[in-house]
Amino acid sequence: MSDKPLIHFASFAIAIPLYRVFDYAIEPTASESLDSIINDGVSHSVSHIGKRFRLPFGSGNKIGLFLNQLDDPSVARDKTKSALECLDDTPVLSEHMMALARWMASYYLQPLGEVMFQCLPAHLRSGKSEKPERVKYWHAQVTDEILYDVIRRRSPKQFEILVAIEQASGGMNAVQLKQINSGWASLIKALERKQAITWDYLKPQCSGATLESPPLSSADQSQVLEQLETRLDVFSVHLLDGITGSGKTEVYFHLIQWQLAQRKQIIYLVPEIGLTSQLVERVSRRFGEQFAISHSGLSNRQRYLAWEKFRAGDVNIMLGTRSCLFSQSDRLGLIIIDEEHDSSYKQTDGIRYHARDVAIKRAQMLNIPIVLGTATPSLESLHNCDREHYFYYQLSQRPTRHAPPKIELVDTSNVTLVSGCSPYLLKKIDWHLEQKGQVLLFLNRRGFAPVVMCHECDWLASCNHCDSKLTLHHRINTLLCHHCGCRQTMPLTCPKCQHADIKHYGIGTEQLEQAIKWRYPDTPIIRIDRDTIASREEFSKRLAQIQSGEPCIIIGTQMIAKGHDYPAITLSAMLDADQALFSASYRASEQLVQMVFQVSGRSGRGEVKGEALLQTAYTDHPMMQSLVNQSYRDIASTILQGRKMISFPPYARVVMFRADAMTLSEAMKKLTEIKQVLQSSVHLRHLKCIGPIPALMTRRIGRYRAQLCLMSEDTTKLRTVLRETMPALQSVKNTATLKWVIDVDSFDI
Ligand code: ADP
Ligand code: ZN
Ligand code: ZN
Repeated sequence: MSDKPLIHFASFAIAIPLYRVFDYAIEPTASESLDSIINDGVSHSVSHIGKRFRLPFGSGNKIGLFLNQLDDPSVARDKTKSALECLDDTPVLSEHMMALARWMASYYLQPLGEVMFQCLPAHLRSGKSEKPERVKYWHAQVTDEILYDVIRRRSPKQFEILVAIEQASGGMNAVQLKQINSGWASLIKALERKQAITWDYLKPQCSGATLESPPLSSADQSQVLEQLETRLDVFSVHLLDGITGSGKTEVYFHLIQWQLAQRKQIIYLVPEIGLTSQLVERVSRRFGEQFAISHSGLSNRQRYLAWEKFRAGDVNIMLGTRSCLFSQSDRLGLIIIDEEHDSSYKQTDGIRYHARDVAIKRAQMLNIPIVLGTATPSLESLHNCDREHYFYYQLSQRPTRHAPPKIELVDTSNVTLVSGCSPYLLKKIDWHLEQKGQVLLFLNRRGFAPVVMCHECDWLASCNHCDSKLTLHHRINTLLCHHCGCRQTMPLTCPKCQHADIKHYGIGTEQLEQAIKWRYPDTPIIRIDRDTIASREEFSKRLAQIQSGEPCIIIGTQMIAKGHDYPAITLSAMLDADQALFSASYRASEQLVQMVFQVSGRSGRGEVKGEALLQTAYTDHPMMQSLVNQSYRDIASTILQGRKMISFPPYARVVMFRADAMTLSEAMKKLTEIKQVLQSSVHLRHLKCIGPIPALMTRRIGRYRAQLCLMSEDTTKLRTVLRETMPALQSVKNTATLKWVIDVDSFDI
């Protein structure tokens, strides 16, 4: 033992955009003091793997994650700097999470350090930490001998406490015990010595009586649950394809209940917009205080505390948005991804991961099931069901209620629209309001008018920093760019020819609201878009107003389209979806169909049958026809066939290289350099390599953007090219004015 070196060396991951790890020395003082940390009588492992250290870096210092100890003393290490301090007594990243991070780094071709820190709550990334207070719960294991012993020793106080603990189903905590006997602490010690009681940190499930009991499962639901039940302890991916309101959430709740009974933990992901107080209340009615929530509306500290509570096992359900996928647990039993098709699961900056795909990998590594649910499955997931990689289940009926309405097209090509509404639509609105129903008008364009121009010359209000038009926001008398947020006061005269005849065209939610208010002065109008909803609380307030069931007209953008249950809506109308028919994005048709089915599915969820209208000037367009005549599943199959014919995702994998710079030529030049690197692999000829070309919106927030696309049906070849060229790609540097990134499984081609 004596010749064991006192100084250790170790590799660390640091969150900087470099594809390498960093070595530091660990002085004995730093490690020794840690090795001897005693907690609850148990000495912690001497391993530092997964702990954070403060490290000298450049002229300052950075936080690093301990990856592994270096045993090789042959390397000259005189110049290796020493770690400054260790910040954790227990690892913040478990070995499992580190393995997941390694997989992500290799799959998404991102630097390991950045990925590892992505897997931590932001609060910890910045070097902060604080332990939430933990509550112990005592449980009794009463045998006859113990009882006899307690009675024989004539300790009625111990007896009283022991019986109370035994009768409390989930154990008792200090506050509860104190109410029985103020001298509880010494009594508990005595009972512990007798091994009559034990403790843990697991919060008891609230007793069933105070919690809502589940409705009787429908035949559909029972069938799904029966099949799922047999696969709950192995890795398996389940796609729950259920029309809106068909009871998917109820199925999740059953699965959660089962896993809780096994003392397992559950991660339950929802899209940002889906985490409403409505859902939170529903979960808490069913599961009491057993869950933590985490979303972008909370502070970093609050999100960290939720993470820590889940990690510690104080709660067993983590309900949250995308990054909650990285919640740590050593007894994770199930991951649920609601609205799995939602594009917000794909992170579009930093580490561009897809939460659904990483979650599936995580489930596979842990050998646990994962359940994806949606009314409009993504084409990727349908494809995986077709290939029998996922189990597929359909919920095709609403329990106790009406089927979702059939979609009816309203031809707008030959009628005069009143603020975007056809006479037919207005008549329908009148009728539904008379019947005391609620009406939803969906218009995916905020602001007053999307186009502002001069009638005299050809001046068009456009952004100085983006290739985009400015939208008029009337109430604040401002022209706003929806891409970079820059604003100008609406000019009184044309900036170019000084003519006073400036006109606006098209309609957004602000104008629609004005027109509808004017026409229906006595009906409450609820507008829901980013301009009217400043906070999550406000959003919840409006949703509650809708939930109350009073007749009203709801005007909203895609904020309103997803995952909310409004039983009183009987008419949902989509005012303008024609843009999507001619979009340059290959995903536009998929997104249009999903949106139409999601929005129409908002209607008729209550006791009264619903109607769904879709205004279009192109009633003969094949897409419009199929929306009327086919199910989502059928249309999706047709789109899939089309994708197969042209070898597009999900039949091919896409890796996108993007660059943005102060000039287009600079961005293009960098991508040409990258293309040359890729060409050094002989396998490149097996792949499609498209570009470099300017991006769809070339100039955005003052930067010019270009892209280079690698695509192949043959994933192995694609990965071979990337593996072979990655070392050289890693040395293609960013400069002060140019940034390039890799986007694996990119959404836009
Ligand atoms: P989804 O998640 O598919 O939109 P939900 O689970 O929210 O569907 O169910 C829609 C509505 O139907 C909810 O109000 C829910 O309480 C109710 N519901 C679900 N399952 C049943 C059932 N088996 N019996 C009665 N009502 C049910
Ligand atoms: Zn002009
Ligand atoms: Zn702009």
